[in-house]
Amino acid sequence: MSGLKNWTPKLATGAFALAVGLSLAAAPAIAADKGYVGISMPTKSSARWIADGENMVKQFQEAGYETDLQYAEDDIANQLQQIETMMLKGVNVLVIGAIDGTTLSAALENAAASDIKVVAYDRLIRDSANVDYYATFDNFQVGVIQGTSLIDGLKARFPDDAVWNIELFGGSPDDNNAYFFYDGAMSVIQPLVDEGKVSIVSGQTGMDTVGTLRWDGAAAQARMDNLLSANYTDRQLHGVLSPYDGISIGIISSVKGVGYGSGDLPMPIITGQDAEIPSIKAIIRGDQYATVYKDTRELARVTVGMVDALLQGSEPEINDTETYDNGVKVVPSYLLKPVAVNADNWEETLVGSGYYTADQLK
Ligand code: BGC
Repeated sequence: MSGLKNWTPKLATGAFALAVGLSLAAAPAIAADKGYVGISMPTKSSARWIADGENMVKQFQEAGYETDLQYAEDDIANQLQQIETMMLKGVNVLVIGAIDGTTLSAALENAAASDIKVVAYDRLIRDSANVDYYATFDNFQVGVIQGTSLIDGLKARFPDDAVWNIELFGGSPDDNNAYFFYDGAMSVIQPLVDEGKVSIVSGQTGMDTVGTLRWDGAAAQARMDNLLSANYTDRQLHGVLSPYDGISIGIISSVKGVGYGSGDLPMPIITGQDAEIPSIKAIIRGDQYATVYKDTRELARVTVGMVDALLQGSEPEINDTETYDNGVKVVPSYLLKPVAVNADNWEETLVGSGYYTADQLK
């Protein structure tokens, strides 16, 4: 009986706490000291976005801001709904990593009407005048690194082949970044195609053809399966341009499925992006050749600085006023530097910087 006595009040306390929690959640702008920031991230299906969200919440809180962090699981309607809810809750600023950079115009009109500032996070928001700033990495340079890693890898692994047979994968066609990655990579690869050193055997080129909707690894795996059966039953695949680690995982499964990486058939050179843990392990194993490290702590730092300046009435720090035309305006941007990572430097770059611990990569 005494057990039950103890148990009943606890429940009551829990319910009370819940009620208080809900009422606080309904009026967080009051609790916020310097301001209230809505953070809308695209998906939790990739670890980088989880890190982005966590880094921002931590750094915003340290800077005296209240946050509301939401993930939309790659569902556009869901993201729009979450943004509307943030506005109703009274955020002062929206930080948005768009799923589809072209779908937010109406929502951002509402934001502007309520004097809510907007920072595009990592991905450009297109077709809207109501984007105040853009925090990202040098996306063309990301592509240059991918193209350079691919060619460096081909030279190192296949020095005796007169022609290197490769295939191309692009990112999601609704993500502005995907075009920058592709163009950056092709700025390195195309000259070698023109001189006959590299052959894109399937003939499939251009983002319209090689794009991968929502960066989906399973879709990439299926496309690689088709490319292999249509073009590589009687020749060797030497390399694959992959724009993102999750896509690389699909490509690796596909090529392994037909025997690459075993017997006398070496793995093709496969690139990537985001330095996600499974892919660093794949680099250590030799399945993936390279990735691109983008320190999400730094992107959070730049974003928090921008928001702080916007809300405190000073000028946000930017270093690019030319590159990111969203169709309506050139959005003032801060571009961070991406870093090439491969088997030679992963430890010093990722563990040395404290981004990962050595244990996480075992
Ligand atoms: C980001 C990349 C990421 C990709 C897939 C892009 O917008 O810039 O870092 O690999 O989305 O999530």
